[in-house]
Amino acid sequence: MNVYKFGGASVKDADSIKNVVNVLRTSGYNNTVIVVSAMGNTTNELEEIVNSYFVNNNYSDCIEKIRKNHFEILSQLFDYKENIFTIINKYFSDLYTFLKKNKSQNYNFIYDQIVSFGELISSQIVSNYLNKSGIINTWIDIRDYIKTDNTYREGKVIWKLTEKNFENFDTSKVYVTQGFLAADDNYFSVTLGREGSDYSAAIIAYCLQAEKMIIWKDVPGVMNADPKYFKEAQLLKFISYEETIELSFYGASVIHPKTIQPLQQKEIPLNVRSFIYPEKKGTIIKKGATIDPLIPCFILKKDIHLLTISSRDFSFMQEKNLSYIFNKLSVLNIKVTMLNIAAVSISLCVEDKYNNLSKLIEELEIFFKLNIIKNVSLYTIRHSNAEIQHKLKSNKNVLLEQLVKNTYQVVINDSL
Ligand code: ASP
Ligand code: MG
Repeated sequence: MNVYKFGGASVKDADSIKNVVNVLRTSGYNNTVIVVSAMGNTTNELEEIVNSYFVNNNYSDCIEKIRKNHFEILSQLFDYKENIFTIINKYFSDLYTFLKKNKSQNYNFIYDQIVSFGELISSQIVSNYLNKSGIINTWIDIRDYIKTDNTYREGKVIWKLTEKNFENFDTSKVYVTQGFLAADDNYFSVTLGREGSDYSAAIIAYCLQAEKMIIWKDVPGVMNADPKYFKEAQLLKFISYEETIELSFYGASVIHPKTIQPLQQKEIPLNVRSFIYPEKKGTIIKKGATIDPLIPCFILKKDIHLLTISSRDFSFMQEKNLSYIFNKLSVLNIKVTMLNIAAVSISLCVEDKYNNLSKLIEELEIFFKLNIIKNVSLYTIRHSNAEIQHKLKSNKNVLLEQLVKNTYQVVINDSL
């Protein structure tokens, strides 16, 4: 069995969905589970429904906008008499029914029940269009298979049960299903975290002992840098699972971080390649692969904050202090991307996704002296050399740097 994942950008409009047919014909699609994300920006639009539902219960404009987009695409792909119009209409009426009948005040629960419509709808459209184009497939509801606890918006997979659900799966067919979605034991939708469709595909690959998984993207594969920031970005043809985990830990956004682990456990190779040039091979991530070509890999994280924390009485920053600080970071969901410990101070680069920095500062200032430089950039280079490090730093305001084995990190204040 193979598992293919098509993300939101690869199914964003009628032409993109037609291109999926082209990709499948070029690459082959026997015994394949095709996992699709919501079309284009749909997940963000569905999030708006959740917010308006909570703010003023005025969500119908948002729903109608999404319906209109999807129906425009449908009308370009199907004849108006086809059954798919009824299927999609039913989802929209289910969405209204849920919102009208819902009694829960649990934001995360409601979020998952609403946002899941994006993938249900896109997978139906793709499945029906592939069937119409001669790629005969069966649509499945992945919520019958992937089971999680009820941590809405960040479901934790119940592996034993999920594996069992795949036991009698007929591996001789082609399937289309949803990324991002799972269900709890009450059959409520649970999502796996934003951008979680890669992870869904990896879960399925794991349970089916797949031969390979392919992620189809709008870039040629895994690059040694983000082409948005580094003009000379190059394609990595081969990398190991470990290297991929390192790259995503430091902030490379190619693959959802949770994706690699299930693949690594069963040694399933992951191929990341372009849906625009499906004949090209892209990147292969597999066990023991040495990075090829062996070139430096650059990761840039912007809008990071540099915190230097020291004791008020110049005493050492001991374990007790560190455990207090890290406990606060963990409770406030602030991610540390670089750490440097000295005798009387520690420096941390933090990412404040949930806007909790001022709360953290407030709580730490009770016991410590703080120095904060906001909105700096953190550059991480894997496999670098002295010349590259020098080039990166020249004429820049370097605040902190660190070299640990293969990984060089430098914090730069670009605002000066
Ligand atoms: N549609 C979901 C999101 O945008 C999942 C995904 O695209 O992987 O986060
Ligand atoms: Mg998406």
